[in-house]
Formats: sequence, C-alpha cells, structure tokens
Amino acid sequence: MLPMAFIPAHKEAEYLSVDQITIALHGDTLIICNQALASVADLQALPAAQYIIHIGQLESQIVQMAVWDAATPLPETLASIDLRASFDLIGEMLWALAGRASQIATFYRTHRFCGVCGAATKPLTHEAACECTACGHRVWPRVSPAVMVLIQRGREMLLARSPHFREGMYSALAGFVEPGESLEQCAHREVLEEVGVTITNLRWFESQSWAFPHSLMLAFFADYVSGEIVCQPEEIEDARWFSPDDLPPLLPGKASIAYRLLQAGLKENP
Ligand SMILES: [Zn+2]
Repeated sequence: MLPMAFIPAHKEAEYLSVDQITIALHGDTLIICNQALASVADLQALPAAQYIIHIGQLESQIVQMAVWDAATPLPETLASIDLRASFDLIGEMLWALAGRASQIATFYRTHRFCGVCGAATKPLTHEAACECTACGHRVWPRVSPAVMVLIQRGREMLLARSPHFREGMYSALAGFVEPGESLEQCAHREVLEEVGVTITNLRWFESQSWAFPHSLMLAFFADYVSGEIVCQPEEIEDARWFSPDDLPPLLPGKASIAYRLLQAGLKENP
C-alpha cells in the first residue's frame, strides 16, 4: 500500500534529481542495479529518458519516475525485472510507488491516439491526462475496481482456482465490477456465477491498488448461506471448502491483498 504520508502529484520534469526516490521503467519492467532500484547515478549509463515525471512527495523526498522504451538496450550494469516479481527485492513501500509509476506509464503507452477521432493525443504537463490535438477530448488513467470475497462457513473458507493460477494455488473469489453495479451487488453476483453459492453479512476488509495493469482490489469477508459448489466453466477450475488444518498447497503471494485477506480469515478461525 502507498504510505499514508505519500502525497500524489503530477509534474513533468526535465531531468532526474539526485537524492530523491526514483522509479525507472524499461517498458513495463523496473530497472534495477545490484538487486536494488537503480539510482540516478546508475541511470547515467542510459540515453535520455522518454519522459520524467514527479509523481508525488513522500515526506521530504520527491518521487520521480523515468521511462525508457523497452527496445532501449540496457548496459551490463543494469537489469530489468518484472514488477510483480520485484516485491521481495524492493519491499512494500517502493513496490507500491512503482505500481503507481507503472500505471501512469501504461496509461501513456495505451493512449497515444484519441478514442473519439483517432488523431494523436498529447500529455498534459500538470496532471496525468492526455488531450486530443484535433478535437480536445481528454482521457485520464483508468482504474478498474474488482471485488474479492472470502466466504466463511464456520472454520472453513471457500477457495477456488482459475485455470491460469500456478499449479496447486487457491485463492478467494474475485471479479470486476460491472458498469452500473455496486460493490455489494458485484460480490453477490460474482460468488453466485463462479461457484453457485449464496452469501450474507458482507464485511469490509481492505483495498489495494493492483497494477496488473490497473485494478483496484476491494476485499470483503462474507458468510455462506446456501448452495452446493458448482464451478463456472472456463473461469473456475476447482473450488472447495478448506479448513485451517487442511489448506491448499499454495496460497497467493505476500504482495497481494488476497494473502492478507486469507491470513486475517485464518486468524479469525484458528
Ligand atoms: Zn480527438
């Protein structure tokens, strides 16, 4: 999660300032040096960045992002790492800041042309937005809300696996919010669609920005009411009730809200 002290901002910059927090992106991967985020000095080995933006302030430090095209060759001193895989390397706080930077970079990469008239857009300098050079249509970074539900039945939890999960991994159910839908409606609908059970007593847990590519995960606990598990074809490969003594071989990674939700569930029902 972004630290509470972080203040988001958006300002184009001409150069990288030393002694600030720097997130360097190579396409959609992070640039690292000696198993840590590359510093401004490390980045001198590269040609000029495509763009540099101050994306916020953390106490006395500016958080700045710099982006290089994925085709730019990296010198031997630098390496690139997938953002998802970098959590253990850079830690939660920098990972959250890198997630913000990555979402902004994804936005620019995917909004080079206007969705209304097809002309080229140009980024605004003072906010994260692009404006069409022909018709003036403006777009901002998209955030896609998704609801996650951990269903409890006594000590048991309903966990499921989607076909694209790693072998043996199970997690809480999750799905994107439909246009016009409330979070609560989404939770009930997703659960019924994906595993055929009904729930009650939705309880708020936490939210988490999830930069793959631009989700906002909203996590809830819920109590089971009725129904036998029937997995939705293609979406859910398997779903079962698990007790704390008999958990699946693999649970979601520590970086995810799913991990924290499951740990909180286990704490409630040890
Ligand atoms: Zn346009």
